[in-house]
Amino acid sequence: MNKSKVAIVTGGGRGIGAATAQLFASKGYSVCINYKSNAEAADALAEQITASGGKCMTVQADVSSEADVVRMFATVDKEFGPVSILVNNAGILKKQSRLDEMTADRINSILINNVTSYFLCCREAVKRMSTRYGGVGGVIVNVSSGASRSGSPNEYIDYAASKGAVDTLTKGLSLEVAAEGIRVNCVRPGLIHTDMHADGGEPERVERLKSIIPLQRGGEPEEVAEAIYWLASEKSSFSTGNYLDLAGGL
Ligand code: NAP
Repeated sequence: MNKSKVAIVTGGGRGIGAATAQLFASKGYSVCINYKSNAEAADALAEQITASGGKCMTVQADVSSEADVVRMFATVDKEFGPVSILVNNAGILKKQSRLDEMTADRINSILINNVTSYFLCCREAVKRMSTRYGGVGGVIVNVSSGASRSGSPNEYIDYAASKGAVDTLTKGLSLEVAAEGIRVNCVRPGLIHTDMHADGGEPERVERLKSIIPLQRGGEPEEVAEAIYWLASEKSSFSTGNYLDLAGGL
């Protein structure tokens, strides 16, 4: 088991990623808060963590870019040492649309940001964690979505399919590296209060749909962060290749 406490949270400046970065820092992890363009949010979070005695740094990197991902992991090696926990969380959503109105540019953008990015970060993490490469193990938690089960008809099938790919990545990689000291699991949140729904063109989407959620409310980023932390911790030491649904029963 990897006893070092170094975590990378992609898309860690806002939403679920920010809650996760904050939780890991409060548990004594040195946290790399990755962001793409919102430096202000990432810096504000880093200030908050540092003020409460936590250790973190912000790293700007577009995780859909291979060069940026390689640079981010190298930066973490240098500043904190090899990563022990990777939380693949960065993701995007486009305006609600039927499939017959989607362009190839849109679909490719969703796939490179939500799928290629996860593969690239997993690759760099495995190279550092795997006993095959002289590492001491580690944990990867992928943030998928309940959309991989629902398919998101009339909203964003492209996004839902990208999360289906994340589920399959989780399963395949978990089996590939299970004997090399690495556990790979994923969380599948349902409707969570974050900025993402505004990107889909409907900031109040969670409120509109809350009556169909059995628990009758949307989720909070902190509730997802707790599940991610559990999957990253030794408390879940016999879990790999699993999906944890956090959708209020939906
Ligand atoms: P959010 O508030 O919109 O935050 C998204 C984060 O991802 C931001 O920090 C953003 O960086 C970052 N990001 C996007 N593309 C990136 C890239 N190419 N490189 C680096 N960072 C990138 O979204 P969220 O709701 O917290 O979503 C986090 C994850 O949860 C996503 O994977 C999403 O699909 C999943 N999820 C969300 C919900 C929900 O209801 N909210 C439900 C299921 C699953 P900047 O801050 O620099 O823009």
